[in-house]
Amino acid sequence: MKPREESVGARSGVAGGLTGLRPDGESASAFAAAQKVLAGGVNSPVRAFKAVGGVPRFMSRAQGAVLTDVDGNEYVDYVGGWGPMVLGHVDERAKAAAGKVLCKGWCFGTPTEQETVIAQRIIADIPSIEVIRFVNSGTEATMSAIRLARGFTGRDLIVKCEGCYHGHADGLLVEAGSGATTFGAPSSAGVPAAMAAGTLLVPYNDLDSARVLFAAHGRSIAAFILEPIAGNMGCVPPADGYLAGLRSLCDEYGVLLIFDEVITGFRVGLGGAQGLYGVRPDITCLGKIIGGGLPVGAYGARREIMERLSPLGPVYQAGTLAGNPLAVGVGLATLEALHEPGVYAQLESLSARLADGLAAAARAAGVTICQNRVGSMSTVFFQAGPVTDYASARKSDVRAYGFYFQKMLNQGFYLPPAQFEAAFVSLAHTERQIDETLAAAERAFAGLARWVP
Ligand SMILES: *Cc1c(COP(=O)(O)O)cnc(C)c1O
Repeated sequence: MKPREESVGARSGVAGGLTGLRPDGESASAFAAAQKVLAGGVNSPVRAFKAVGGVPRFMSRAQGAVLTDVDGNEYVDYVGGWGPMVLGHVDERAKAAAGKVLCKGWCFGTPTEQETVIAQRIIADIPSIEVIRFVNSGTEATMSAIRLARGFTGRDLIVKCEGCYHGHADGLLVEAGSGATTFGAPSSAGVPAAMAAGTLLVPYNDLDSARVLFAAHGRSIAAFILEPIAGNMGCVPPADGYLAGLRSLCDEYGVLLIFDEVITGFRVGLGGAQGLYGVRPDITCLGKIIGGGLPVGAYGARREIMERLSPLGPVYQAGTLAGNPLAVGVGLATLEALHEPGVYAQLESLSARLADGLAAAARAAGVTICQNRVGSMSTVFFQAGPVTDYASARKSDVRAYGFYFQKMLNQGFYLPPAQFEAAFVSLAHTERQIDETLAAAERAFAGLARWVP
């Protein structure tokens, strides 16, 4: 479950002085209209800006690394659609692929050849996947992977890490229960206690806790699911040896290791986090980048596991729009673009430039931050750090983040509207945009150093 952030929304004036943008014009009226007909005015909670305060900006177009809101204000985008837009917005190759599909038809309800092509592409890049199935979201990917793991092992319990997010399926909306129990409690109303009780929790990056848990329940556990690089408590990389340690532990107890690479897949390299750290999971979940901004998820594994799926095996899972031609077309164009030489080096260099500059700017202003970064995903935590798990992430000053966020927004830089999220750099960002971001951050940090909450 995502960390719950204290709302700073009630604090008017968090943003402080504006620098020429008219933030609350059309966005404010658009939000008011939306709130009458959409729950909370949004279709996904974090978009409502509750954690940072203020009115969410309604965007009307995007190009490259720039978002334009309904007032015509422009923002350099570090959210990237929450991960998918690694090429930047309205990339010509993705657009051409979408155009082709739109001419030929976009929903047949039959198999299409392009589904095989994108499957071949992903399998060639991620060797732990021999067979894959496409779904419509990351939530569906993790939910289905867990059902498959249960069907394959004949066991019911699953383990997840505190602070990792795997979408909103019942059994994954779970937080640590009270007292010493490792059995989970629902983190959302509407999740039956019985569903949550099938999920055990351990701290991220804590191999010893996992060992203790496995010693007690190992033979009843179907799967251990985690983000191999956490992105949903802010960016938190795995400690040295953590993933390899989990791999051996799972092998010892016959537990399937599931890597939720919905963010990290094709983000940190063509082979995902598993390629980066050299640890093979049993099942991999994908989403976000593999759809290039259209609704997609996927899960894959070695053949023996995947052949338990219907129509070959007894584990049922289906989807009317699964493998949809538009999503597959744009996804494939995105993956092909990521195979051009130098792409990941470029992401690394832009992202390092941003992180190094932010560190220097914070130091100069006397603001304490701690940054975690893996390639083009990163988080600025407002605390001394280190941030290695959910408990340490929670020590961040979320009100300082809210201040920083608003100061950046009002200068035309769109950061994740919550402390516990990763920021993304895309291939469309330029060094000049990064340097402008750093100049804005210097002003934001200077304001924060003087800020008396
Ligand atoms: C975004 C995300 C999901 C959920 O994907 P949706 O497409 O939003 O359902 C699952 N796991 C991780 C790691 C994610 O970041």
